[in-house]
Amino acid sequence: MLGMGSGVEPGGLLVPAYYWAGNGSMVIHRLKGFGRPADGDTYLHAYEPERLRWLRDTGGVTCVFLTYNWGLPPELEAEDWRTFERAARRCHDLGMLAAAYIQPSNAAALGSFASKPWYAMTPKGKRIPYYNGRFFTCLNDRTWREWVLTRCLDACQRGADVLFFDNCAFGGMPIPLSRDYTAFAGCACLRCREAFGAWQEQRGLRPLPLPRLFRPGRSEAARRFAEWRAGTLTAFLRGIVEEVRLAYPETRFVTNTVGGVNVNTFNVFGADLPAIASFMDWLFVENLQSPRAGKGTLVQNAGTYKLLRALKPGAPALSIAYERGIGVDGPPPPSTFAKIAAEGFAAGGVPVLRAAEYIEEERWTLLRPGRDDARLAAFGEVVRQFGALVARGCERREAARVGVFVPDAIGWRGDLYPGDGDDYLRVIQALVGAGIPFRVVGERHGPCDLGCLLVPASATPPAWFRGRVMRFDELGLKRRGHSGLRWFAGPLEPAIRVLGPRVVDGYYSRVHVRRFVDRLDLLFRLVFGGRFAQVPMDEGAARVLAAMNPAQVELSGSGYVDLWEGPRGVEVHLVNYGEAPMVATVRAGAHGVAGVHGGEWLGEGRVRVGRYAVVLLERARPAGISPAAAATA
Ligand SMILES: [Zn+2]
Repeated sequence: MLGMGSGVEPGGLLVPAYYWAGNGSMVIHRLKGFGRPADGDTYLHAYEPERLRWLRDTGGVTCVFLTYNWGLPPELEAEDWRTFERAARRCHDLGMLAAAYIQPSNAAALGSFASKPWYAMTPKGKRIPYYNGRFFTCLNDRTWREWVLTRCLDACQRGADVLFFDNCAFGGMPIPLSRDYTAFAGCACLRCREAFGAWQEQRGLRPLPLPRLFRPGRSEAARRFAEWRAGTLTAFLRGIVEEVRLAYPETRFVTNTVGGVNVNTFNVFGADLPAIASFMDWLFVENLQSPRAGKGTLVQNAGTYKLLRALKPGAPALSIAYERGIGVDGPPPPSTFAKIAAEGFAAGGVPVLRAAEYIEEERWTLLRPGRDDARLAAFGEVVRQFGALVARGCERREAARVGVFVPDAIGWRGDLYPGDGDDYLRVIQALVGAGIPFRVVGERHGPCDLGCLLVPASATPPAWFRGRVMRFDELGLKRRGHSGLRWFAGPLEPAIRVLGPRVVDGYYSRVHVRRFVDRLDLLFRLVFGGRFAQVPMDEGAARVLAAMNPAQVELSGSGYVDLWEGPRGVEVHLVNYGEAPMVATVRAGAHGVAGVHGGEWLGEGRVRVGRYAVVLLERARPAGISPAAAATA
């Protein structure tokens, strides 16, 4: 999170921004938005030095994600490559890293790409749409692999410090249905049929034909196909990363997976995240979890950062959060920018500034100087506040003594259903809602100092753990709401099997379906929404867990609390999810309050929190608390 592993200068923070612009972005956004135009003036001037400097000076940005390769044919895209090269040089002049967007999973079937052999196919021989005019590609097609590798090497040659593989996926997406899936997943072209057969033979299995319907709960062929599909994506990315590293060893790699921890990305996208994370430098999840709280709902992204950190301890864990989606959200108020930044830093993650892909007055637009100064400044203020805090200490570590154990089989390739004893997302919702700081512990964690480990019903605690084990079931959690698509009963299966893929295809390729789904917020409601109900916890269990931690916090509104330990003592991070200021009451036990950053000290352990505040606690000295020292920074 500090300079370590990020490539940013020592002591500097990694602060990335999504900043897609230039001609290719205008083309791709027009396609994605069914003809909705882009604000050309803003798109075409975005990479000029003064705009990049604005990102750095006002927003605290240190790494800019620039347009390079959207999957457009070269006659449309070559200009973007040159624009990237100039923009990367300007970023370097300003002391920022340049990340290049690489599209590894789909291409726009326009111009010289219209008749390429590399598109993924359904069993009926149809291409699989990914937004309007774009189609998923077959990762077993040699020409596609060579094209992606060529783009990666060229981006590095033109100055990319970071390669960003967006949309980590292989082929068509299945439809979740009644505790299984239906419709087709992946690619059924001849190459893939042969490769799937050979893969089975290598494992000493009698080859089963490639399944026409992806129903791993019911079909051995589909289970094998799921493994093969994910293995294909892993090998595709690994091969490219290894080849690029030979030529450009300093390059850092990051993949983006939509949803990440809220959907079974193994089955839906064919992405085996633990395997992919093993050769990536940074991890990244994009989702609709811009933090907010409302009646009965609590949308938090803190758990995402913790889960990613557990996937690869030590690696920067990035996330970008939307509210309703790309091509739907307008620029949110400054407070949203502040919340996103504060929650990310507090949770030990790397919040990504969203400076692009907004809709305003029916046009695609980006953040720009003048109109968006207050938005960018709100983000930048949190960056500076956090930067000042970490500049003082060297090593910081998580100080929460409550752990949530999430093994790979549950966290990254399991389907969670309401009421299941393995539902770690519900546990995280409850902990955040109760203001109880926690860590997520994964399979790659070594022994750490925990008082209590919360363990899913189907898992065994790690052998090194010596403290108190509590099963998820012991927390007395209220059942959360459920996601509609997962619950359509069996008899509807034949209809969903036919209609489901049409709705999904329609979402990507038909303006009316798209607008209908977006207007009703169906994507959030059906796929993610059920995850973000408030989940009350049994009061007794909450007291037991809270007492494990070195400090207990009570919030007057919805917010997020985390605990870190540095050389000077414990930091209590307080993030306000609401709009009105809240009051946090901190009970520090053996610690004394040594200072408050970004909040107003009200005495007797109480702090007024506008957006983000950090209370510094030091181990109690004979002199005890010195309220005078608790000045606001
Ligand atoms: Zn194929």
